[in-house]
Amino acid sequence: MATANLTAVLYKANDLRLENRPVPDPKEHEVLLEMGCVGICGSDVHYFINGANGEKVVKAPIVMGHEASGTVAKVGKNVKHLKVGDRVAIEPGIPCKICDYCKQGRYNLCAEINFCSSPPCNGNLCQYYTHSADFCYRLPDHVSMEEGALLEPLSVGVHACRRADVKLGSTVLVTGAGPIGLVSMLSAKAMGATKVIITDLVQKRLDLAKSLGADHTLLLINLDEKAIVGQIHQLLGKEPDKSIECSGAESSIRIAIQSTKSGGVVVMVGVGKPNVTVPLMNALVREVDIRGVHRYANCYPLALELTASGKVDVKKLITHNFSLEETHAALETAKSGSGVKIMIHCKRKKISESAS
Ligand code: NAD
Ligand code: ZN
Repeated sequence: MATANLTAVLYKANDLRLENRPVPDPKEHEVLLEMGCVGICGSDVHYFINGANGEKVVKAPIVMGHEASGTVAKVGKNVKHLKVGDRVAIEPGIPCKICDYCKQGRYNLCAEINFCSSPPCNGNLCQYYTHSADFCYRLPDHVSMEEGALLEPLSVGVHACRRADVKLGSTVLVTGAGPIGLVSMLSAKAMGATKVIITDLVQKRLDLAKSLGADHTLLLINLDEKAIVGQIHQLLGKEPDKSIECSGAESSIRIAIQSTKSGGVVVMVGVGKPNVTVPLMNALVREVDIRGVHRYANCYPLALELTASGKVDVKKLITHNFSLEETHAALETAKSGSGVKIMIHCKRKKISESAS
């Protein structure tokens, strides 16, 4: 059994250390996982740069990482559905399982949820990590570890589309073509949306969106709000039934509300300023519903189905790959904004492998 457990620990802003920690032992309902892939999320970058993400502050050293997959190395004695060698996607939030939200299936709203790498909870950017087995999803052989890790952001997209009630024939506006906007676009298409338009300020991101299946893209430069709304309607040939805001920018929230068809839905995924000015009366008189999105609940199984069936191809989001030892460089690359999804591979080469 391995004894070394190289672990990426953030002490405070710009103070990331790789340290060796003990290999943990799984509790009776847990599995020990040999970590496979861990994707970098925007929140990881915020913690790395600022030591905080919104109201969440790194007050004590924290293990980074929450978009992850691994291989079962040991099972706790009550674990029945997994065995050693199973490859799994790891849903990172373990809720209390007893509060009203948990009982109603909206466990993403559980106040007691322990979410990987959200302070004070440790994440899984390391070699060995234990996790509640019921939040591990076995991957079919043809689904890669990278795809397993990408089920995390994909679940955000799936949940956003469920909250927006995207269905067969929906026309959808997605604002912001970062990883979350892209997985929302992919989910919307997989759920039956017939036309999706996506906006961004960066042409490269829109080019990727287009290659992933966006029907229309709109670059927002030198356009005023009214003109942007007009362009969205013109490109779609109609008003979107649903809008999924994935930039966090006030201007985008305003555009999403004004573009959406009367009686339609705007879901808010992007996190921005705590207080924003929006045309609320416009939403009121047109019965445009504005709904929040907080991570996901019960979305991993569908995200896995979409990936395993080939309905959604998330692999194309990956622009950079790094090893666990290169975590610092991976975070710097994520910080530079030059990539889309940056993937860290935790499995260290055996000495014999690296020598060959
Ligand atoms: P990202 O920063 O990589 O992508 C945001 C994209 O929006 C970028 O491509 C950027 O160019 C674009 N953008 C910025 N201003 C814009 C504007 N005015 N109009 C159109 N596009 C604009 O981030 P991401 O990883 O894709 O995440 C998107 C947002 O979703 C972030 O705010 C993140 O914090 C949030 N998020 C929320 C949840 C949730 O549960 N609600 C979960 C994950 C991420
Ligand atoms: Zn709960």
